[in-house]
Amino acid sequence: KPRLLSGMQPSADSLHLGNYIGALLSWKALQETHDAFFFLADLHAITVPQDPIALRENTRRTTAQYIAAGIDPTRSTLFVQSHVPAHAELAWVLNTITGFGEAARMTQFKDKASKQGQEAASVGLFTYPVLQAGDILLYQAVDVPVGEDQRQHIELTRDLANRFNARFGDTFTVPKPYILKDTAKIFDLQNPTAKMSKSSESTSGLIWLLDEPKITEKKIMRAVTDADGEVRFDRELKPGLANLLTVFAILTDRTVDDVVEEFAGGGYGTLKKALAEVVVETVAPIRQRTLELLDDPGELDRILSVNADRANEVAEATLATVYDRVGLLPRR
Ligand code: ATP
Ligand code: MG
Repeated sequence: KPRLLSGMQPSADSLHLGNYIGALLSWKALQETHDAFFFLADLHAITVPQDPIALRENTRRTTAQYIAAGIDPTRSTLFVQSHVPAHAELAWVLNTITGFGEAARMTQFKDKASKQGQEAASVGLFTYPVLQAGDILLYQAVDVPVGEDQRQHIELTRDLANRFNARFGDTFTVPKPYILKDTAKIFDLQNPTAKMSKSSESTSGLIWLLDEPKITEKKIMRAVTDADGEVRFDRELKPGLANLLTVFAILTDRTVDDVVEEFAGGGYGTLKKALAEVVVETVAPIRQRTLELLDDPGELDRILSVNADRANEVAEATLATVYDRVGLLPRR
């Protein structure tokens, strides 16, 4: 089976609908056809300030949401990034073959750094995509399912893999991005030109998987649209509506055209009401199951420990080859 790797940051106490559509939905299907590795990117999360107690708790909570959304930890390898030291170690080596200018072109860094002010942003945030490249290359992953927002980072990973292979001999599998559809970017309901993000300043435009159904409904009914009032898909002129139509189409497994046809002629309110129902139907069972799993944190920790063993085996083998190729003296 082809190797697959993907992860998310435990950077909030809940995942959101963008994470579900852009990642979890495809992970669940892909674990059937792939040797899949899914991880909790805690080392990535600390590239922006985190409260230590919350981070630890959010790592368990995010694990529970993966499982609740259908990731099977006996079939896929589900682990915490910091439980596998090779991630940090390979990132260091890759840092040494990454150009400063190359890293400076990454738009996620620009977005996140501008929120904090360039001066306050950490070097860790700057080198985030290099750590991410290491995550992928350690497991020799072929397929890397991510949302559209991560395309640039996967391109960097490919460049680094090719560069390393050319300079030091064939070592890494060059991965390809596995982006669900070009519609797989979900936008903030209050600010529909910005992507839905765990780290958004305002959360009124975010559908959290762990929101109570009433809150989810309210957020959808209040989603920003436009004054024109006509239901049609126009990403440029009607970004808010386009986002709602996209979510509706994906969650019901229909085309956007099909959804537009159903709601054309009606008001936005009708569409929103129907959408709220669809979203709650999707999210409520995940919330329920997550809360059940969180009742037994010891069991979650046990699952993570067993899975970290498997991840370490694969990762250590790759790292040993890398150290050897680069010319580091082995310890005897
Ligand atoms: P943060 O704001 O802390 O970066 P995030 O919401 O961007 O959080 P990540 O943990 O960075 O979430 O990303 C996890 C996965 O979710 C990635 O595969 C990413 O592509 C996907 N993803 C994140 N946001 C969206 C979105 N708005 N639409 C589609 N996919 C998304
Ligand atoms: Mg992100």
